[in-house]
Amino acid sequence: MTLSDLIPEPCPHCDQHQPRAGMDQHITTNHADIPPCTARIDTESGGLYTCSFRIGHTRGEYGDQHASPSSTPLGRYVWADSAPGATPHRDEEQQ
Ligand SMILES: [Zn+2]
Ligand SMILES: [Zn+2]
Repeated sequence: MTLSDLIPEPCPHCDQHQPRAGMDQHITTNHADIPPCTARIDTESGGLYTCSFRIGHTRGEYGDQHASPSSTPLGRYVWADSAPGATPHRDEEQQ
């Protein structure tokens, strides 16, 4: 936990602000009804990140950009669908 983990950030799915370290938990519990965003990025440095938000995360400070879970050493890795190595979210095929 670092100081920046304690700074509140706006939730991408509602009007609540949460400490950065608690945002992923907030989304998991409060927005469990929204399917996960499956966007991912294969970075040039070899890291593979998946989006920690849910479909339609257009609110909050990242807008429609995707962000990795905050538990990574560098905090969130934020990327856009247009970034090299990025795979946009796709709706799962209905089983
Ligand atoms: Zn929320
Ligand atoms: Zn996303």
